[in-house]
Amino acid sequence: MSANTAPAVSRPRRTTFLSFSPPSITEAEIEAVVNTLRSDWITTGPKTKRFETEFAAYLSAPAALAVNSCTAGLHVALVASGIGPGDEVITTPMTFCSSVNVIEHVHATPVLADVEPDTLTLDPARVAEAITPRTKAILPVHFAGHPADMAPIMELARQHNLLVIEDAAHSLPASYRGQRVGTIGDFASFSFYATKNLTTAEGGMLVGSPDAIDRARVISLHGMNRDAWKRYSAEGSWYYEVITPGFKYNMTDIQAAIGLVQLERLAEMQQRRREIVAQYQQAFSQVDALQTPVERPEAESAWHLYVLRLSLDRLTINRAAFIEQLKARQIGTSVHFIPIHLHPYYRDKYGWKPDDFPVAYQEYQRTISLPLYPGLTDNDVADVIAAVTDICEEFRR
Ligand SMILES: *Cc1c(COP(=O)(O)O)cnc(C)c1O
Repeated sequence: MSANTAPAVSRPRRTTFLSFSPPSITEAEIEAVVNTLRSDWITTGPKTKRFETEFAAYLSAPAALAVNSCTAGLHVALVASGIGPGDEVITTPMTFCSSVNVIEHVHATPVLADVEPDTLTLDPARVAEAITPRTKAILPVHFAGHPADMAPIMELARQHNLLVIEDAAHSLPASYRGQRVGTIGDFASFSFYATKNLTTAEGGMLVGSPDAIDRARVISLHGMNRDAWKRYSAEGSWYYEVITPGFKYNMTDIQAAIGLVQLERLAEMQQRRREIVAQYQQAFSQVDALQTPVERPEAESAWHLYVLRLSLDRLTINRAAFIEQLKARQIGTSVHFIPIHLHPYYRDKYGWKPDDFPVAYQEYQRTISLPLYPGLTDNDVADVIAAVTDICEEFRR
């Protein structure tokens, strides 16, 4: 860093620990939950329906199915697509395990393709090399909220007659060439886990065409062709038929009540995320031991995560020690992600070596995710900036 930037090295250390990612819950969400508990409908019902409708409208998506996790949504999407034994699904090593676990759940074969160095999302050139006659689908992940390069991915899917199932856990709300992420592929699954941009504590939303979502809905609730709301409400009937052995993946109205409030607050929460990102980008772009995350011109990131990369050749410590130094300065962090091919189950089953996906492996060793959530104050942000720049100074090579 240049001498005149004078980082806030003199800033006193925090006295309280700054959590990596607490949820943003207001009195409005609490009141919505209490009201639901006081009503006579607490599981999947009118609030879940409304949440589906409002979520679909927000994205301009044709149809949406509320489920109890993004993982459940991905699983249902694979089942609804008829993907099973002998089929291959191409995905990224730079993701949470559940994106790949669901491919195992349907007894299909995950095929990894490496990521692009700037966005750490699926590299279309590597996808093209991975396509075989057995390939049935591509499962891109919009890492950290930045959309994968969907145009060439959709073009490959069109040429080879493949489905595209988007893991949209990080990408609410993100856009690609002016289109909302979640409306580009055949299916997209969003996560409302406690750390995500919109939370219902646990939950997810699967988005797709009305036909595909109708099939997914049956699979997500025991394979029954009528859901409980339709059976127990005034206009309902007691009769239903099981047409496939489905799963128990429905969202409750308690969760949907939280989701409806969070959806109203989403624009304001995103605004705050962007302000924080701007402060981080401004500060860290001045430090030569750091590489800041990108937002490509055709993309609008949801900024779910702020993934900073260390230039390890300019530091005397590694990423693990850097994280310890941040912890000593009361700053919570995380790492996204330990690449899939390094996990024992996948490494051993498929015989993957670390360098089989060199970009994911190399970048993994130098990434740190910093706190990024609407509840961060400007003082918190200044503390993070001071801690990071201080460590870069102290351990510069
Ligand atoms: C959080 C996450 C998931 C899983 O979401 P759940 O709602 O917890 O099932 C899937 N993929 C990615 C990339 C995630 O970060």
